[in-house]
Amino acid sequence: MPTYTTACPRNCYSTCSFKVTVENEKIISIEPHASNQATPEGPCIKGLAYVERAHSEDRILTPQLKGSDGNFQPISWEEALNLITDKLQHYKNSFGSQSVFFYAASGMSGLLNSVSHSFWDLYGGVTTTYGNLCWPAGLEATRLTLGANKHNPPWDLEHARLIVLWGKNPVESNIQEMIHIDKALEKGAKLVTIDPRRSPSCERGQYLIQLKPGTDAALALGVAHELIRNNWIDRTYIDKYVVGFDDFARRAAEYPVNRVSQICDIPEESIRLFAKLIDNNPGMTMIPGYGMQRFSNGGQSIRSILALSVITGNIGKKGACWHYANLQSYVFDSLKEPLSYFPKINAKPKFRRAVSMAKLGDDLYHLVDPEIKMIWVERGNPLTQNPDSKQVKKAFQKAEFRVVVDQFITDTAQEANLILPAKNMFEQSDIIGSYWNPYVQLKQKVIEPAGEVKPETEIYYLLAQKLGFAKEHIENYFPAPNDEAIEAYLNKHLKAFPELSLEKLKQGPLIASQHEDLPFADGIFNTPSRKIELYSTEAEKLWSVDPLPDYVPLERSDYPLQLMSPNSKNRIHSQFGNLNVIKQFEPETLLFIHPTDAENRDVNDGELVQLYNDKGSSEVKICFDMGLKSGCVVLTNGHWYQDGSSPNLFTKGKETDMGHGTAFHDTYVDCEKIASK
Ligand code: SF4
Repeated sequence: MPTYTTACPRNCYSTCSFKVTVENEKIISIEPHASNQATPEGPCIKGLAYVERAHSEDRILTPQLKGSDGNFQPISWEEALNLITDKLQHYKNSFGSQSVFFYAASGMSGLLNSVSHSFWDLYGGVTTTYGNLCWPAGLEATRLTLGANKHNPPWDLEHARLIVLWGKNPVESNIQEMIHIDKALEKGAKLVTIDPRRSPSCERGQYLIQLKPGTDAALALGVAHELIRNNWIDRTYIDKYVVGFDDFARRAAEYPVNRVSQICDIPEESIRLFAKLIDNNPGMTMIPGYGMQRFSNGGQSIRSILALSVITGNIGKKGACWHYANLQSYVFDSLKEPLSYFPKINAKPKFRRAVSMAKLGDDLYHLVDPEIKMIWVERGNPLTQNPDSKQVKKAFQKAEFRVVVDQFITDTAQEANLILPAKNMFEQSDIIGSYWNPYVQLKQKVIEPAGEVKPETEIYYLLAQKLGFAKEHIENYFPAPNDEAIEAYLNKHLKAFPELSLEKLKQGPLIASQHEDLPFADGIFNTPSRKIELYSTEAEKLWSVDPLPDYVPLERSDYPLQLMSPNSKNRIHSQFGNLNVIKQFEPETLLFIHPTDAENRDVNDGELVQLYNDKGSSEVKICFDMGLKSGCVVLTNGHWYQDGSSPNLFTKGKETDMGHGTAFHDTYVDCEKIASK
């Protein structure tokens, strides 16, 4: 039976390498690929669930058109493509090409995704989004401070003496990171976790600081003040590489432990102990997660936390780095993160990036001149994953014609007029990078597309012909629908990197020659001052925030419970939860609540409550969580509405303080018992 090397293209830190065995065009096993030093033990439960996902009975295998009765009926590709062509011509001629809205998210990464941009560009330009649902507040905070987003490879973690998981839960969201953390712990390293939840990762550490959500900057500044007050800082490093330390020290002095203790609702002693641990254990790797920067104060929180690594000289050394995002394997990206998330400043942009990802519902609904007439969605599920889903749905329903490319009938696909079946990861080769490990990898084609599935590249190729794009444009930008043409397209991009080749990538992951093992060890920082900027005039100019890191309290709400929607081990955003294998672990949507908060509402474990705020309301079953900070509730990310409740029913469209991220976690709710029926 043939076995192939491939890699997981999900929006997940790990980007695991696999060996996949195929029998009679079916994936029958997924095994670890030992040559990936970051993921030697293989995939998580979701990776193993690919066996079901690839061959699921629920998969869409033909184009589906919604009839007047609201039901989908299969139609041929010829009918589907003719219908789309007619609509695209009509809307462009009648209202301009920007009356078409193109939405793509992170459902499948890969170099071939750039074909969609070429298509919409050659069509005449369309309306699309700026910003991002996840990480840009932290990316921008890091860029402003260090000049770039890169960090030591995951295996360097074993050299750390102190590891801080600040709002990250790798036991569920980045399981391979625990391999390297465990090695460090075996050598005597200390593990501090900072989280409002006592997550499974907290259980692996020696110290937990369970702060109030959204107060991270106050804690960081309080710890900085302790470090500075006790002279537990690296003066030599600061003098050589840092701009703005004296101003920062004055800012930190505004956060004595008694004040921080009150803001964060933690004991004063925790703050002192944390500072002492940093001093006693030189060689600190600080690992902030992607949750805390989804508050409106997220960018300033990340700048404050990063300052702890800076003032103690824990940058650019073995076992000592700022481990936020490692974009070194994004070698093919012409778009540079986080700058690619910002709206185009061009006066007459071909692509009208007028719609904020964070405020999609409102922005799209109210867009005029032209109004949105047609929507195209691929690699995303905005009706579940964008904030204020009710408004997003309303905006979608306002458009006359909606095309969704997907593998399953998601909440968004349900609202489509036409669904096109999407490929899965095994049905077309592509090249992917990682934002955690340093490898460039080939996601290899191992089976033919199921049913009548056509990869997006083929859909665009056929539409380009039907729309009469110039022959040379089609030849240049749209690989023909066969494996040789796809490989030629990938090879063309690989030419710039002689150390990478398709043949070598078929054997396993490779590291591009530009990769640095210890980023910033050379003391080069791509900031305006060419130093690490604790004081950033660019931050003030671009984002109207204080040039120094600061704690900005969240806006208060009349609803008493803070709703958090962290990722769980069972989903990558809204993917995987529909599979039977995952439903065995999580058969229903649950709202986690501390027993004290439940008791105050006269609710018992396992009972149904009405969860509500001014944005939405739904029934959901509660589950007691003794490890959750009182005053918080958790509904994990990615649940579909069609299965009950979903976090974005309660979130509002709001951007983060920098980077055009999404402030999902500025969400307050309440719940009440539903009288038994
Ligand atoms: S989802 Fe993440 S951890 Fe799981 S297999 Fe894919 S890359 Fe690996």
